[in-house]
Amino acid sequence: MRPVEPPWTDALREVDVVVVGCGPVGALTANLLGARGVDTLVVERSTTPHGQSRAFSCDDEALRVYQQAGLLDRVRAEVSVPPLAEYVNRRGRVFARIALSEIDFGYGHPPLHFFDQPRLERALRAGLDRFDHVRLALGTELVTLDQDGDRVNLVLRDVATGREWTVRARYVLGCDGARSRTRAAAGIGLVGRSYAEPWLAVSGAAQPSAVRVEHTTFVCDWRRPAFVSPGAGGTYRVELMLRPGETEAELLRPESVAALVEPYVDPERFTVDRAVVYHFHRLVARRWRSGRVFLLGDAAHQMPPFLGQGLCSGLRDAANLSWKLALVLAGHADPALLDTYERERRPHTVAMLRTSVRLGRVFLTRDRRAAWLRDSLLRAVQTVPRVRRFVERFEFKPVPAYRRGLMAGGRRRGAVGTMFPQPSVLVPGEVGPVPLDRLLGDGFALLGRPESVDRLDRASAAADTDRPAADRPAADRAGADRPAADRAAAAAADDADADRAADAGRAGAGDRPGTDWPVAVRHVVVHPPGTRPSSLDRPRIGRTGERQSRRGGPVERVDVVDVDGVLGEWLRRHRADLVLLRPDRFVYAVATSAGIDRVGRDLGAALRPIRHARPGPGDAAGPEAVPSLS
Ligand SMILES: Cc1cc2nc3c(=O)[nH]c(=O)nc-3n(C[C@H](O)[C@H](O)[C@H](O)COP(=O)(O)OP(=O)(O)OC[C@H]3O[C@@H](n4cnc5c(N)ncnc54)[C@H](O)[C@@H]3O)c2cc1C
Repeated sequence: MRPVEPPWTDALREVDVVVVGCGPVGALTANLLGARGVDTLVVERSTTPHGQSRAFSCDDEALRVYQQAGLLDRVRAEVSVPPLAEYVNRRGRVFARIALSEIDFGYGHPPLHFFDQPRLERALRAGLDRFDHVRLALGTELVTLDQDGDRVNLVLRDVATGREWTVRARYVLGCDGARSRTRAAAGIGLVGRSYAEPWLAVSGAAQPSAVRVEHTTFVCDWRRPAFVSPGAGGTYRVELMLRPGETEAELLRPESVAALVEPYVDPERFTVDRAVVYHFHRLVARRWRSGRVFLLGDAAHQMPPFLGQGLCSGLRDAANLSWKLALVLAGHADPALLDTYERERRPHTVAMLRTSVRLGRVFLTRDRRAAWLRDSLLRAVQTVPRVRRFVERFEFKPVPAYRRGLMAGGRRRGAVGTMFPQPSVLVPGEVGPVPLDRLLGDGFALLGRPESVDRLDRASAAADTDRPAADRPAADRAGADRPAADRAAAAAADDADADRAADAGRAGAGDRPGTDWPVAVRHVVVHPPGTRPSSLDRPRIGRTGERQSRRGGPVERVDVVDVDGVLGEWLRRHRADLVLLRPDRFVYAVATSAGIDRVGRDLGAALRPIRHARPGPGDAAGPEAVPSLS
């Protein structure tokens, strides 16, 4: 990462992507773009090295996203894993429990992690140091923006001096939080409402012996609902609802804070780092895209924290949009691909928001009789094993899946559109099992049984030999043998180039075998449990982060041993020989060996649709665009 200093600010500058806001979502987005070689400028109004303690927990999907950004080790060093979460009534009696230590959704990480937001943000920003093509301008705010046909013009201001300067960008990603200026400048409104009751959130450091409530606990006390939990690195969090008539000024007095936290942690041995009063919201932006401007994170949606999903949803936004943007900028996909961002992310986010709101209704009951009824009912229904399992196993959390978007057939069917599991596998040259994602690369990946992938590789090799290099599309030739940063420069092909590339892709679709992938696809060969890794070929992959398409060179190939049989079982259950995964680990298609040709053609058509058939910018979500949030 290069800091932005004068004279950089003096002249009009061009950049591929401007990320507005370097909160957790902006910082992660910049890391994901950086890892894909995208020329990026991040502007952040604040000059502090990190943000404030607000988000406290994240899930397994979030860890998987950090993993994609190459940040897993840094982030994992900052988190703790809670064993359980309990819902207790006013008297401290448990009426529902989530057995976190017994849950494994199969995505390669425990279902819940706690972290300290300032430390997390520091780790995310440190990750940017890996990329020369990512610049961070601290103390710089977006003032306004407008767009013409092929660029966004941003007016930025140095907050210390008040000096303004201008940048032109191909795309702008508004990660500037709840009061997003990007959103306002793009003329996008919000739908939904805010909760009437304010909450006090207290974060601090507690000695272990000071902790009185040791587990993550939702205190469903109708007089004052609260959430309390030990966090990462000796931190402790208490969040409490304010009662009618209580004022912020009164509650923020140190003696008030001490009295409020006292049932949960000894105030004498609890150092308060931060006590802030918040209002929670259930709001979604009417559109998440306006032309070349996109909204992510709190700029696009805000939900109450009862399911701990506000930030997690923003991280999913970043994971969804970043690889699509990189493909478009590199000329490997038509800009229409970017419409699938909102089409995929909005319904999932709204489902998460609604579940959070429903959970809040259980948790926040303010009426004594309703609370008694709730406690009795929840205790009673949990004697039904299926219901008990539903609660204990966290099955009420919406699954990671997209209804419509970039997937075979355009909509979810069976496993298509869902997140693929991440088991550990054995691979030649590595000691011990490694998580699958480490071997998938940063592009598309095709997994399958040896006979299926071998057949495909033979067909590809034969087709390659038959075709002269000059027949290969320019975009593929450009992308094949170059390091990520160089490709980013090549990616500076403007949309006219993208359109030409799209034409090239269309001409080919349908008359070449489908195994002729329209983008680089790494082949991952799944060998059954018991196979000796040393009997397999070593991985055949390019430099880290490098993608090779078959048309630009040999297909990358990795042979793995499915040590626990998870992958073989998945293929069997879905009656598939092969599964094609997107770069964000969602299933694009499942196929038999005979049907894989069609998948290749389908992907080619999806990345390069016939121009007149595609929706216009911002036309992403159709009638679902503004859902009711109740
Ligand atoms: C009490 C509380 C508890 C929560 N707990 C959880 C939880 O456990 N798990 C969870 O997932 N979520 C939780 N959340 C939600 C979570 O905190 C937010 O969803 C998350 O912080 C949003 O991140 P963001 O990067 O989108 O926005 P922000 O964190 O708000 O970052 C926006 C950044 O943009 C910068 N900025 C703003 N305007 C400009 C401008 N014009 N120019 C340049 N920069 C600008 C800001 O300085 C800031 O750094 C909680 C929220 C609260 C209030």
